[in-house]
Amino acid sequence: MKTDCYLPEHHLFSRLGKHIFFNVETMLFYEVTPPARDLISCISKDRGCDPIKALKGKYPRSEIRNTFLYLSKEGLLKEAPSNSIKPILKKRWGIRHLELMVTHGCNMGCRYCYGASGPEQWKDAPHLYGSSTAGMSLETAKKGVDFLFKESGDQKDLSVIFFGGEPLLEFSLIQKIVPYIREREQDTGRKVDLSISTNGLLLTERVVRFLNKHKIGCQVSIDGNREIQDINRCLPGGRGSYAHVVPGINRLIATRKGRVPARVTVAHNQVNIPAVIEHLLQLGFGSIHVEPAIGSTGESVVSNDDIKAIKAQNEVLALYLVKSVRNNRYFNYTNLVKFIRHTRVIRERLAYYCGAGRTYFSLSQDGAFYPCHRFVGMEQYKMGDLENGPDFTLQKKILSLTVDNRPLCAGCWSRYLCGGGCWKHAVDLKGCLEVPDNELSCEVIRHEIECSMAINSELDVTDQEILSELYEETAEPYLKTDGFVKSPKMGNLSFRMK
Ligand code: SF4
Ligand code: SF4
Repeated sequence: MKTDCYLPEHHLFSRLGKHIFFNVETMLFYEVTPPARDLISCISKDRGCDPIKALKGKYPRSEIRNTFLYLSKEGLLKEAPSNSIKPILKKRWGIRHLELMVTHGCNMGCRYCYGASGPEQWKDAPHLYGSSTAGMSLETAKKGVDFLFKESGDQKDLSVIFFGGEPLLEFSLIQKIVPYIREREQDTGRKVDLSISTNGLLLTERVVRFLNKHKIGCQVSIDGNREIQDINRCLPGGRGSYAHVVPGINRLIATRKGRVPARVTVAHNQVNIPAVIEHLLQLGFGSIHVEPAIGSTGESVVSNDDIKAIKAQNEVLALYLVKSVRNNRYFNYTNLVKFIRHTRVIRERLAYYCGAGRTYFSLSQDGAFYPCHRFVGMEQYKMGDLENGPDFTLQKKILSLTVDNRPLCAGCWSRYLCGGGCWKHAVDLKGCLEVPDNELSCEVIRHEIECSMAINSELDVTDQEILSELYEETAEPYLKTDGFVKSPKMGNLSFRMK
C-alpha cells in the first residue's frame, strides 16, 4: 500500500494521555487513535511511505487500511499540497487603550522588578524606569485622556489603566482624573473601562470605597503565601510584604464577591504554582494569572529547569481544571482558561499577542508615549510625547510584524493561537521585536496550548456547556487585541476520531 499523499500544515502531539492532531490550516484539532497518530507520523516523514510495511507488527493490516481511509475521508490526507493560506488582516488599529503611568515610584522593591534593580534601589532614593519618582501632573493626565479620545476616532469602547510603579501612591491624582474621564465619556457618548494594577499595600477603606464607587477594575500583584511572597516582594529595606498586603486585599475582596484577579510572578527556583494558587483561592481571588520572570529581571529570571517545572505543574493544574468543570466548580487559572476558550471555539486567528504600540499606548509620568509600561524609559521605543505629538513610526513597524511576517513565528504551528508573544521579552532576550524569545516564553505558551486542547478533548458536550457558563469572556485590557486575521475556513468544535 503506497500512500503518496500530502498532509496539511499540522502539529501532532501527545499530552495528558491524549494524542492530538492540530490542523493549522483549518484550526481544527482532533483527538486521534494510536494507529492514526503513527500513520500520520509515518506520512509526515515520508509522504510516499508504505504504512502497512512501516507499522507491520504494531497494528493489524486492516486497521491501518481503515485508518488511512478515514483520514482521507476527513480531508486530512490530500492528493496535492494545500495552497498556502494568506489570511487577511483586519485593518483596525486605532488606539483604544491608554495606560497612565501615574508614577514611576513604588513603595515596594521587588527583587525581580523590571523597572529597577530590586531592593538595591532603596539604598538611595527609589528610582524606577531610570527616571524621577515624581507623580504625573493632572495636566499631563488630562492631556493623555484627550489624546485617547482624539486618536481612538469613532471607537466606542475605550479603556484607561492606572499603572506604575505603584499607582495608588498617586491616589489624589486618580481621584481627580476619574471624574474628568467620566465627563468626557458623557460629552462624547463613549464608554471607558477603568482599571488599576496594584501591589495591594495602599488598599485602605477610602481607596477601596473609591474604586468600587467608580467601578474601577483592580488587579493585585501577589506571589502566594507569606513564605513565597516575602522572598521577592519586599518592602524598602528588604523586609517581606505579605503581612502588609493581606489586610487591604481582604478589604477589596470582601466587597467584590470573588471578582478580584491576582497576577503572580514566578521567579527562578521558586516554581510552586499549585501551592500558590491554592493559597490565593483561599484568600478569595477570583482568577489567577501566572507569569514566569523573563527578561530584564536580574537573577530572578527563570531557567530552563524552571520552565520544565512550570510545564509539569501546569499539567497537574490542567487535570484539576477538568475535575473542577465536572464538579461544576469555577477554577479560573487564566493561563489555561484563555486557551481553552480560544481553542474550543476558534473564531479568530491572532496576528499579534497583545495590543502594545498598536491599540495600546503607555503614557509615562513625564508625558512620553511608549508601547507599554515595560518599555518606559527606553529611548529607542519612545513613540513621541504630548508636547511634540505622537510618533507613529514604531506603530507602523509593529503593525507590519504579524505572526506571518516574523521568521520564527511564521513557521510555528501555534502562531494564530499565540500571536507572537510579548514584545518586551523578545527585546530583552533577542534584542529586537522581530525575533521571539523562543526558549522560555514560547516553550510555556506552546505547552499551555497543548494542555488546553487536551482538556477540551477530555470534556464531553455537557462538560463543555458547564465550561461556557463558568467562564465568561474576559481579558485584561492590555491583552485585548484587534489583531485578528480572517481565515478562509474557521474551525469550531473539535471532534474525536476513535
Ligand atoms: S510560540 Fe513563539 S514562535 Fe510560536 S507564534 Fe508564539 S512567539 Fe512565535
Ligand atoms: S505582553 Fe504586550 S503589553 Fe504585556 S508587557 Fe509584553 S509587550 Fe507589554
